[in-house]
Amino acid sequence: MEEIIDLVIAIDAGGTEIKAGLVQGAEIIDFARRPTEREMGPDHARDRILAVARDLHELHPEARALGLVVPGVVDSLNGIAVYSENLLWRDIPFKQLLSEMTGLPIAFGHDVRAGGLAESVYGSGVGYLNSLFLTIGTGISGAMILNGEMYQDVYSGELGHFDVSSGVLCACGATGCLETVSTGPSIARTFRERSGKEAKNSAEVLSMAKSGDHVAEVVWNEAMLALAKALMAYINVLAPEIIILGGGLSQAGDDMVIPIEKYLDSKITFQRRPIIAIAELGDRAGMIGAGVLAMQTKQ
Ligand SMILES: [Zn+2]
Repeated sequence: MEEIIDLVIAIDAGGTEIKAGLVQGAEIIDFARRPTEREMGPDHARDRILAVARDLHELHPEARALGLVVPGVVDSLNGIAVYSENLLWRDIPFKQLLSEMTGLPIAFGHDVRAGGLAESVYGSGVGYLNSLFLTIGTGISGAMILNGEMYQDVYSGELGHFDVSSGVLCACGATGCLETVSTGPSIARTFRERSGKEAKNSAEVLSMAKSGDHVAEVVWNEAMLALAKALMAYINVLAPEIIILGGGLSQAGDDMVIPIEKYLDSKITFQRRPIIAIAELGDRAGMIGAGVLAMQTKQ
């Protein structure tokens, strides 16, 4: 019998942009991408998310449910965005707001765990019982699949705050976190500080590194080394069969995978060497995961 998969509205609201669409399984039928404009404050970011939801609902009244995923500390049961250091919000009752606005069943969850769920159902993680899905974008966060189940603790997976002794103050208030070295914005910032040259984002730094800019090369390599060290710590504790890299920075592809593999191969002695893969669903994994959550909701 053919599986019937619902049409749902899926929204992944990140620190930089909101990705939203009408989805059916892993298929994206309509897609919209808008900046979150987090610099305008948490209320503005909330309103941007609600506006995308309203627009998609008006365009696609055939959608059966709506799924929203956001970063930070998420109370998925009560549908509340408890805290996000990137979006600076506290206690936003998204489930209630969206339900009142659309009348649809609402699923609410964490962006990275949703991305990990999507990769394990439709992407690179299919068939693995122990995997780590790590997103590297504005922040760094991991979703852990252990014995075939998503580990759900709201405070888990914060690899971005692994101490790599950078000496730089992190958005979380601590000093030296991985996020101060290996995220897109921190790679661009470090390059600007050291070179005095302009770079809008990490993609520009990588492209300069590849065309022979020495400072850009050093900054990129340091970012990959710090990331690899954090992953090695994870490997020693939880021994994933595969590590799936997602988020904006993963668009670097082999320029990320190869330096990480080199470091791991130089450190691994008896441990199982995990496969290092790029997320198959790309930066839409979170959105597709929001769709999976929406499909699981009941009227
Ligand atoms: Zn931190």
